[in-house]
Amino acid sequence: MNASANSVHIPYSRVVCDGQELELIREVLESGWLTTAGKCALFEEKFASVVNVEFACAVNSCTAALHLALESLGVGPGDRIFVPTMTFTATAEVVRYLGADPIFLDVEYGTSLVTPSILEKAVADHPGAKALIVVHFGGQAADMLGGQGPGLMDICRRNGIRVIEDAAHAFPARQKEQMVGSIGDITCFSFYANKPITTGEGGMVTTNDPELARRIRLMRLHGIDRDIWNRYTADKPSWEYDVLAPGFKYNMPDINAAIGLAQLDRAYLLRQNRERCARFYFDKLQNLEGVDLPVILDNYENHAWHLFPIILQDAISVDRNDFIERMAARGIGTSVHYKPLHRMSYYQNRYSLNPVDFPNAEKVWRGCVSLPIYPSLNENELQYICSSIEDILKH
Ligand SMILES: *Cc1c(COP(=O)(O)O)cnc(C)c1O
Repeated sequence: MNASANSVHIPYSRVVCDGQELELIREVLESGWLTTAGKCALFEEKFASVVNVEFACAVNSCTAALHLALESLGVGPGDRIFVPTMTFTATAEVVRYLGADPIFLDVEYGTSLVTPSILEKAVADHPGAKALIVVHFGGQAADMLGGQGPGLMDICRRNGIRVIEDAAHAFPARQKEQMVGSIGDITCFSFYANKPITTGEGGMVTTNDPELARRIRLMRLHGIDRDIWNRYTADKPSWEYDVLAPGFKYNMPDINAAIGLAQLDRAYLLRQNRERCARFYFDKLQNLEGVDLPVILDNYENHAWHLFPIILQDAISVDRNDFIERMAARGIGTSVHYKPLHRMSYYQNRYSLNPVDFPNAEKVWRGCVSLPIYPSLNENELQYICSSIEDILKH
């Protein structure tokens, strides 16, 4: 690439909305019905069909989805929920919404995933935990189904632990022949602006369990027994409804669902283009000394490729924060996934967490840098990013 440093600008993330987004939003505006209605119902139906699951319930964030998931499982004060430390705070904060307590798990170095052996040990140390929230870090599914040994699902089923999947990074993603969204008891997706597909803000809950689906639907909108759209389209008088529980205000407006429908149409194309970026990075960076590339458990096609996190090894002279600044000086945006939750004041203080209990997450945290990975990154930009990394590590 022939551009000088200050003329290059490669942001960490760039949203692509070049499909039918505007057209579908226009339909919503012209319909005069801006809140949850037909577009949302259609988005749910299509999403359920893509992930091959019985029920899909659209909400206004993945955080709301996770909250509803735990609530539907009856999680309450005193319950303990396994949560990986390598995640965004939303994964753990929802546990606190309900007065329950997270038990933080270390992750595997290389994948940043909770493994069956990490979970086995945690179950032995903390018998009686009610649920596991598993995070499909970066878009790669954790080992749910096992193969060589038991998977996370086997361990949870054997111990009476319910399974919620935080799939904020993992759409569309698969394990073996199963779509993420149809494996655990409940799966939660995010459509936040920089996630694999977006609705601006939004999320989705999926499950095959009709009872859980019923509870989630009820609690999504004030605990009202019929949703507003049904109230206006059904035969019964539209003013009549009952309140069955003190529910939440988590519904997805049709304007957002319109964007979601347009994005969903191109979800596989967008994924494929992120995979193209990942393959480029693997190809160019594989022999770079001092850097660990993400470890792939399965094949490239099953991965959603939401993140491309590299880890600078402890031994090299460039420290992570310097590296980020030097990339920024060359016009390249990067990010960090994540500063682990056991290092965040609230969790650290409340649960007296000690970093030495999370050796792998600590090692990841010291060196992790996420590189740009999105469909509109072109080969010149990818090459510029890779040469910049080599340059910085050499000097
Ligand atoms: C983004 C994210 C969330 C929260 O998603 P929102 O839609 O912003 O609520 C939860 N978990 C993980 C792992 C995330 O990356």
